[in-house]
Amino acid sequence: MNISKKIQGLILLFLATITLGCGGNEKESSNRLKVVTTTGMLGDAVRNIVGDSAEVVSLMGPGVDPHLYKATQGDLTQLNRADLIIYNGLFLEGKMGDVFSRLQRTKPIVAAAENLDSTFLLSGDAIGKAIDPHVWFDVSLWRQVVLHLGEVLAEQSPELAEYFQDNAKQYAEQLVALDEEVATAIATIPEGQRVLITAHDAFGYFGNRYQIEVEGLQGISTLSEPGIRDVTELVDLITERKIKAVFVETSVSDKSIQAVVTGCRERGHEVSIGGSLFSDAMGAEDTPEGTYPGMVRSNVRIIVDALH
Ligand SMILES: [Zn+2]
Repeated sequence: MNISKKIQGLILLFLATITLGCGGNEKESSNRLKVVTTTGMLGDAVRNIVGDSAEVVSLMGPGVDPHLYKATQGDLTQLNRADLIIYNGLFLEGKMGDVFSRLQRTKPIVAAAENLDSTFLLSGDAIGKAIDPHVWFDVSLWRQVVLHLGEVLAEQSPELAEYFQDNAKQYAEQLVALDEEVATAIATIPEGQRVLITAHDAFGYFGNRYQIEVEGLQGISTLSEPGIRDVTELVDLITERKIKAVFVETSVSDKSIQAVVTGCRERGHEVSIGGSLFSDAMGAEDTPEGTYPGMVRSNVRIIVDALH
């Protein structure tokens, strides 16, 4: 965010505070909209929209697996204090359902990905054809989520509506450029090597959008355990097609992927671990990978380098 935008946000916040009849710094801070998101990717989207005019807390930090995540006592305090809760939905936060349905009675809760038109959604191949929740890896779909969140936040704070909508549009423009950047980079991988093998099926939307075949050891949720058959199937595929690299994920154990590497070695094919991808969680705060564009760029760089 540039400086003039920050100043604009602060002025709007100040005006909004006066309009509400609340002077004084203490009241000003308590009147700031408090938004709690589950994943860091959603937190990144909201921060880009609200600037400094709202408090944004993301419950799931670096390396956290949202499929298995359970709300802690500290999270419940944050959720109870929130004015607005934003989660991904499509059963990404598989163990948070009860908490959300209880809170739904007292405050607005938005499942950001569930607003997408169903024609854009992919189904996972496991667990009863559930919908794949990992929509953030198709940057063009994530752009739609960002614009929707701009509307949601505008509704929540009518006095800042225009500012939020403008910010959402500006961020969405950056995502148009990022989408093109990813497509161009992935297209440079030789066609026969354009296969992305990971621990769990988080990259279905990525593969669909950027024309790279995706194979995961586990299904679209990490709740399922990979079986021996899955490992053998992947070993067959990698050795037959002489795939150079497989990938681990920052939020998933690398045990199953190591089994694939060992299996390939026993068959006389050396496959390397191409690197660690950010699948369901972003990188550390205050690093480039701690932002959504940064995590996407890091993944693309690792994938392109390893498969060339
Ligand atoms: Zn996942």
